[in-house]
Amino acid sequence: MTMRSRLVPPLLAAAAALASQIPPISAGASRSLDAANIRSFHVLSSEEIFHIINDLADRYPQFATLTDAQTRFGLPAAGSEADCPYDRDTGLNAGCRNYILTIEDKAVHPEGSASAATLPEVFLSGCLHGNERVGPSSVTEAASLLLEVAACVALPTDPADSRSVNDAILCRRDLDERGIGESHRRWLARLVSTRRIVIMPTANALGYYQNKREEGGIDPNRDFPFDIEEKDKDKCMQTIAGRSINELFREHLFQLSITFHAGMEAITYEWGAPTYLKYMSPDDEGQSQIALGYKRFAGNFDGTPDYKTGTMNDIVYYVRGGMEDWAYGGSWDPDRVVQCTPNTFGGYPPEKTTYNDSTLRMFNVLVEASDHKTPPATKTGTTEQLLITNGAGNGHISRNLRIALMEIELVQPYVSILGAGGVALEDDIVPSKDRSNRSCMQNKAMLIPSNKKEIEIEWTVGGGFTVDETRIIHGRWEDMPLSIDGSGQLTDEDLAKLDGKINTLDATVGGGTTQWHKDGAQPNSGAFPTIGPLFQASIETSSYSPGDKIAVFALARLDSSWSRQPNNIKPEGPPLSHVVNARTNPTWHHESAGKVIQGRLLWYSIPLTLVVGDDANGSGVAIDLSSRLKPPKIDNGPQIGGGFGGNIGSASGGGLTGHLMVGIAACSILILFACVVLARRRRGRVEYSRAMMGALDEFSDGLTFEEEDAFSTPESYHDKRFDDSIEMAARREHADAEEEEGGRAFSID
Ligand SMILES: [Zn+2]
Repeated sequence: MTMRSRLVPPLLAAAAALASQIPPISAGASRSLDAANIRSFHVLSSEEIFHIINDLADRYPQFATLTDAQTRFGLPAAGSEADCPYDRDTGLNAGCRNYILTIEDKAVHPEGSASAATLPEVFLSGCLHGNERVGPSSVTEAASLLLEVAACVALPTDPADSRSVNDAILCRRDLDERGIGESHRRWLARLVSTRRIVIMPTANALGYYQNKREEGGIDPNRDFPFDIEEKDKDKCMQTIAGRSINELFREHLFQLSITFHAGMEAITYEWGAPTYLKYMSPDDEGQSQIALGYKRFAGNFDGTPDYKTGTMNDIVYYVRGGMEDWAYGGSWDPDRVVQCTPNTFGGYPPEKTTYNDSTLRMFNVLVEASDHKTPPATKTGTTEQLLITNGAGNGHISRNLRIALMEIELVQPYVSILGAGGVALEDDIVPSKDRSNRSCMQNKAMLIPSNKKEIEIEWTVGGGFTVDETRIIHGRWEDMPLSIDGSGQLTDEDLAKLDGKINTLDATVGGGTTQWHKDGAQPNSGAFPTIGPLFQASIETSSYSPGDKIAVFALARLDSSWSRQPNNIKPEGPPLSHVVNARTNPTWHHESAGKVIQGRLLWYSIPLTLVVGDDANGSGVAIDLSSRLKPPKIDNGPQIGGGFGGNIGSASGGGLTGHLMVGIAACSILILFACVVLARRRRGRVEYSRAMMGALDEFSDGLTFEEEDAFSTPESYHDKRFDDSIEMAARREHADAEEEEGGRAFSID
């Protein structure tokens, strides 16, 4: 707060004083939601899910692809003519299709491109047991939210097109009114544009349609070839649910996965197989941190406590043929894997259950979503404060939707520059907008005055828990090797070429924690548009000249603690999962099915370009040159989106005259005034006023981000894995429940 006050330039302060004659909006008004904007969740039927996912694929073709295991892999369909009758319209004579919804940014990561190959991949299974009803709705609602927000943030696609700008304003307003504020929009848009999210809302499609645990009498979660006995090799891959997941996993390199179940309330991880009954996995630290993170973000409500976390062996029970351990160990633990020879559906080729060294190394977390397999409608939750732990509308679907989002978040660390000189950039990641070929020079650029010896950079870090180290490096674009195109991570070769041309020493700030950590986001000095921590450091700019274009990178190292291990692990040795190694082990390299995972310790932001202006004008304010909703009108100077990219080597300050700076300042006041009016109309949300944020803060404390306090959950981070309260009662209860249904294939103890 003090930082922003300090940085308000005189001209803007004057405008803010004018604006302050308008009565401030009360904090209460900006935080409350119109009841009409709140929607109750309910357990969706098979047919509802069918229509929703088809609609999503139709409405958002730039991000969503819908297929099914029958079309994609040529698998038969389970069920009869009477099952999933809506699928008769899709050309299927009998049974149910096993739908697969993939969400990724196809324009930014075109098929076959290097960036498409390296997109981190996550998987979500709504249900393996068809009568466990929370997961399918949670993942379907998560998909809807992600796609709607990404499509909105992609607008305006053309800042000169007033219709596109209008659509952008309207959809942001609509989301605002539903409690999805700017920080959350930026976050969700980033998730869509920087990950590949693969969802099977009803992996056991027949079971879900029939509201039965099994698929045709066979339990899909005993159907995977892990830790089953050789004599039982005809008892795996018997179900289409199991085969669909098997085929899908063979085409990807998933790092994180969630498999939703119900019957108790717990978030659990390896081990859950009899061979490893008394042992922890080599990746235990990462697994337990992630499970505890899910628990914190899920929260509790109305008599429903926080989730328990721990290993499946401890909290649930172990199984042979479970999907969880198969997905984690199938690639590196061949002694546990058998080649399946089922007799169902005309058999299944044994080579389909022969795996390479890379496919099955994911954390496949078992979320036992709710004690009641079909919770009552009063407990499923609403959209009110949906993205806030323990928000007013928390319920079974709300909290599991959040867990799904957090999985997508945690698959890979990221760093994002939010602004400079106390002025926030309007955009973080813009979906559908190409980020290659140094386009960031136009799409993430700020004009700074040259009469300052230093300028403050603000950035955030996410995709993990502990920020071990973060800092800024900067240098002239003209000194950067061409291999640095602004869209990807810097390599060791890039850094070697930068030696001596880049300044790394003047902006080291140490570490912190993200919003997912038990301590919440640290440091966090407030009102930049992020849900995460806010790091700040000043870089020296006195060595740069007017016209220089400076590339500023923020970088961070996260979660080195994930390589720690408890004593009683099995097998002994270093961590074996992709997600742990990808951030702790630079020598980790895996390729499979055209996908690549390369380990690294340092994660780089997309660079911010600082254009050094002329200091004839003394306003001293940094200006967002890349704004799409309120592009600065700079006549007589470099045109936004025009001249930056092409002439990196011949920059000059000629265009940035005093006249220009006066024009910018005058324009700023007009924009500020418009912002104030807009902000008031929109019940106080600071939406179109990024560049003027500091000034706005002067006149209304009500204009805060509702997310500011959303993510801290004060609790001690003690390890619950060996907690006495992890009682056998819960195990037995679940086991008994399954016994009643006659579906249990393996007994406890
Ligand atoms: Zn289950």
